Amino acid sequence: MDQERNHHLNPHQMALKQVEIAAAHMDLDPGILAKIMATEKEITVHFPVKMDDGQVRIFTGYRVQHNDTRGPYKGGIRYHPEVDADEVRALAMWMTWKAAVVNIPFGGAKGGVQCYPKEMSAREMENMTRRFTWELHTFIGPERDIPAPDVYTNPKVMAWIMDTYSILKGHVVPGVVTGKPLELGGSLGRFEATGRGVFVTAAQAAALLDLPLAGARVVIQGAGNVGGVAAAQFAAAGARVVAISDSKGGLYNEKGLDVEQALACKNRYQCFLSEHVPAREVTNEELLTLPCDILVPCALGGVIHAGNADYIQARIIAEGANGPTTPQADAVLRGRGVFVVPDILANAGGVTVSYFEWVQNLQNLLWSEQEIAQRLEGIMRGAFAEVHRISRERGVDMRTAALILGIGRVAAAVRLRGIYP
Ligand code: NAD
Repeated sequence: MDQERNHHLNPHQMALKQVEIAAAHMDLDPGILAKIMATEKEITVHFPVKMDDGQVRIFTGYRVQHNDTRGPYKGGIRYHPEVDADEVRALAMWMTWKAAVVNIPFGGAKGGVQCYPKEMSAREMENMTRRFTWELHTFIGPERDIPAPDVYTNPKVMAWIMDTYSILKGHVVPGVVTGKPLELGGSLGRFEATGRGVFVTAAQAAALLDLPLAGARVVIQGAGNVGGVAAAQFAAAGARVVAISDSKGGLYNEKGLDVEQALACKNRYQCFLSEHVPAREVTNEELLTLPCDILVPCALGGVIHAGNADYIQARIIAEGANGPTTPQADAVLRGRGVFVVPDILANAGGVTVSYFEWVQNLQNLLWSEQEIAQRLEGIMRGAFAEVHRISRERGVDMRTAALILGIGRVAAAVRLRGIYP
């Protein structure tokens, strides 16, 4: 069935393939193209952590700094057993294009630690985070590289990073990470930002396709930070969230789920499947091909591939997750007329409000929630309109258009700075 998976384009090869596709529509200097396809710095660390049973375990962590031509490196840190160098390389490159698509003056980076966060105690997570921060501390900083939350990291993890980094510097440095708790210089609206941006861009796509949001059937994969907020936003707009999932599986009710109840159950009991939520259980694979109008992948990469793209019933895919769709699936979806709002546009709300947080930290200012929400919405709407204009003018899909915009901005910056010496 799944040839592409057997051939196994790893995430980094996927990211490079996307650049090749976009570059074919651009008139880029080959030297500049080679420069922006390469990662600038790759840090791999193997570090010891004392576990609760007194044993020392060695963890492997990565920080890949793809490109800082337009500003300091920026990107999340992921804790997951499948984290590897190729995944982090891809995620770092997507961060560079994403910041450029929304015209935020950041470069792109990403980090991760290979671990099973669900099997670790809070103390083990803290020890691992603090030691990883120590390993990275000469490479990160508010003017150098600014981490943020990603899969299975959260504001608490950011607080540990900020604290460890501040101790090493001898003074408090809130701007070293974003996505912090509000009490430590986090920004209002940061927790909601990515899911909010996914909703805003999906709503714009729906308007283009004359699909009324009220009553539209929405399927969401992943009910974490991004998926949970997006689900709540769709429900508040009158859409019917018919399915939602976590790593263990999903719930489906064609009449629509009570999103608040489903999320409350997850938050309270660390599980979804409650007798109080009338629904049938589905696997994460089944969930993607359920009848719906809008599909919102908000978990891991590579889930929409050559083996299932033909069976996706949604008219719109809004990519909350990074890299959920492989290049071969993209071609199938394009052929079938599915409107894809690509990750580097749809989930750019996160980096946008991270930028607001960083600016507030550097200036010791606090912006109001309303100011942040308005600025975020303006940027997301503007970026969507720009990407859609390129898509129409060049006759390309939205992903290629977003890449043309993002890569074009980075390439222009490289050209202006020149190649040293
Ligand atoms: P999170 O840890 O808060 O949530 C992840 C969710 O995915 C959880 O509900 C988890 O149960 C679920 N999940 C894990 N493995 C799964 C699987 N195999 N199948 C289905 N569900 C699974 O993480 P998050 O921050 O919400 O990130 C989700 C996605 O969004 C990632 O791809 C991330 O890179 C991307 N993203 C996050 C942000 C951000 O601001 N947090 C910004 C841009 C993009």
